[in-house]
Formats: sequence, structure tokens, C-alpha cells
Amino acid sequence: MELFKEMEEHGHEQIMFLQDNKVNLKAIIAIHNTVLGPSLGGCRMWDYDKEDEMITDALRLSEGMTYKSGISNVDFGGAKSVIWGDPHQDKTEGLFRALGKFINTLNGRYSTGTDVGTTFDDFVILRKETPFVGALPKEFGGSGDSSIATAYGVFHGIKACCKYRYGNDSCEDLTVAVQGLGKVGLKLSKHLLDQGCKVIATDIEEENVKKAKELGAEIVKPDEIYDAKCDIFSPNALGAVINEETIKRLNCDIIAGAANNVLKDHHFADILKKESILYAPDYVINAGGLIQVADELGIGGYNEERTMKKCEHIYDKLLQIFEIAEKKDITTVDAADHIVKERIEMMKAVHNIRG
Ligand code: NAD
Repeated sequence: MELFKEMEEHGHEQIMFLQDNKVNLKAIIAIHNTVLGPSLGGCRMWDYDKEDEMITDALRLSEGMTYKSGISNVDFGGAKSVIWGDPHQDKTEGLFRALGKFINTLNGRYSTGTDVGTTFDDFVILRKETPFVGALPKEFGGSGDSSIATAYGVFHGIKACCKYRYGNDSCEDLTVAVQGLGKVGLKLSKHLLDQGCKVIATDIEEENVKKAKELGAEIVKPDEIYDAKCDIFSPNALGAVINEETIKRLNCDIIAGAANNVLKDHHFADILKKESILYAPDYVINAGGLIQVADELGIGGYNEERTMKKCEHIYDKLLQIFEIAEKKDITTVDAADHIVKERIEMMKAVHNIRG
């Protein structure tokens, strides 16, 4: 990989490679953009096959965080850290303390939190070495489980999609196909069922399926979710689920869920536009967790009521994006990117004013 070329193409500011044999640390901190503020982004732990795969993940995820912060109007830039290792086998106290030490050297230029493969417990350890970490458990002074805010934000995002598509945001009597019943998917299903929606749901974990059934969801097998006749398809499991194979099978008007990188690539945003399927860009609708962590790390510390209000604003943000997309005849992804780029330019102008 030509790293500098990649960084230049995508506008990354800094990449740190971290290594310590004794604690088995091999990690990257990728800082994409700090125009909007010091960078923020979770820490992923994954057993990558190759080094290039790990670097690509760090670059792609950190860039996504700049867009997520930008659209959410929080004063943070975008970054991500990735640890190379098996989250089920390779976790040690030394690993997370060493990562914490390195993060601390950045003196607030980067703050972290949980992501795929890392948990609260890991960050309670990391916190011993650095204060630059968010979404710790409430008993450790943090804001707690961020999936509550994420699910709440996705629910309001779905309401915005219904408002735009059907002229009414009640969602009552609509059918939502929910893929993934983990931390976010299950909470989202509860919001939807409480609202009077019919929920068709799936997960590969029997335990999660059981919980959704108890809430009142109809269950289908994991692969059948793409064929479910529904108004809304809500991906809350993996990325790249909208691809060549699945797009032909979908039977919905709207795609709106928490999963990151839902579209296999940008070309699928064009196809969805052509097919008149309304797509809620992932980094807009799933920003609740980021909004919570930004609130926790921001002025005055965490306030739950304020955070939930900000999550409700995902509704207005999506309506603004849909209107821009319609007016400019562009995809909803391009419309969202456009808003973020304008915000970055605005903040560059602010920074140019001599203080
Ligand atoms: P999670 O790991 O708790 O839940 C994911 C669920 O998807 C699991 O129950 C898993 O069994 C299921 N799953 C995996 N493969 C599947 C398949 N092929 N078919 C059906 N189900 C499958 O994760 P989460 O925190 O609920 O996050 C869900 C998605 O939302 C992820 O893509 C995550 O990156 C994204 N996201 C989460 C947050 C957050 O606050 N947790 C914030 C932003 C984005």
C-alpha cells in the first residue's frame, strides 16, 4: 500500500503505528481530520488476516468519523484506533494500559471509546493511563451504554424517513424488517413495536432471537430477511449488506438502520436513487452513540436529557438531507457529504480569524 498517497487522497492528517512486544500490542491510531475539533473515534479489535487490511480499516473508519461528527454538529474531528488481535483470546491488562499510554501522549488530540471487539471493561483498564476515553460505565463516572442513544436516534431517523416518504411520521401499521438484534437492534425493535409497527426480525444468535420474539417480533431465518415484504429494511448487524446480490431481493421503500458502511460502495447509493428507495445515510442515522460520547467529553460533562434531545434532531437533519438531495437531484449520501464539507469550510474560516 502506498500509504502517503492513500492519506493524501482521503485527507488523513496523521497515522500512528504502535508496537510493544511484551504486551503484544500492534495497533494503529488514524487521525483523519481535526478542523472541527480534537479527534474522536472508537477502538476496534479485530484479528485481521493482513497488515494492509488493518490499515485500510483504520483509514476508512477514521474518515467516516469525521463525517459523523460533522453532520452531528459536535466539536470533534474524526479518528479511529484499531488493535490487531483476537478479541476473544488476546486481551490483557498490559495491552489496554499500553494503548492508554500511547493515547495519553496525544494529550487530547484523540479520544477513544468502545467499538467492535472492545468492551466497557477494556476501557476501565485503559482509563488508568489516560483520561481521553468516553462512554465508560456510569459507576466509573461515564455516560454508560451508548447503544441506547444510538437506537433512539435510529428510531427518530426512521420516523423522518416515513415523514418524507409517506407524509406522516407515525410509522403505525408499517412493517419493518430488522436485521441484527444485538445492542442496538433489539432496543430499536422495542421502539418500533411500541409505536405500533409490525417487526420482522432476524439474528444469528438464538438468545437474541428469543428476546425479540418475547417483545412481539415475527422471526425469520437470517438469509430470509432480504426477501421480507416490508416498508422499511433496517440493517443493524453488518456492513456491505446492500450489494449486487441483496439489492435485487429487497422489497421495501426505505433503508434505515444503525449498521456502519451499509452500502458495499457508493455506486449502490446511485442504484437506490434510481429505484426510488429512500436511503438514510448510515453516519447520519447512527450518530446517537457519538452524540452521547461527545456530550460526555464536552463542556460541563454528560447530560442525558440534552443527549436524547440531540438524538431527536437526527429527524430534522435527515429531512434537510432528503430535501437537498431532491432539489439537487443527487443521492442522499452526496447530500449529507455536502453538508459536512460546508461545515468544515466554515470552521476553517473561523480558525483563520486571529484570536
Ligand atoms: P452487536 O454486536 O451488539 O449486535 C450485532 C448483532 O448482529 C448481533 O446480535 C449478531 O449476532 C447479529 N448478526 C451478525 N451477523 C448477522 C447476520 N448475518 N444476520 C443477522 N444478524 C447478524 O452490535 P451493536 O452495537 O448492536 O451494533 C450494530 C451495528 O450498528 C454495527 O454495525 C455497529 O457498527 C453499528 N453501530 C453501533 C453503535 C452503538 O452505539 N452500538 C453506534 C453506531 C453504529
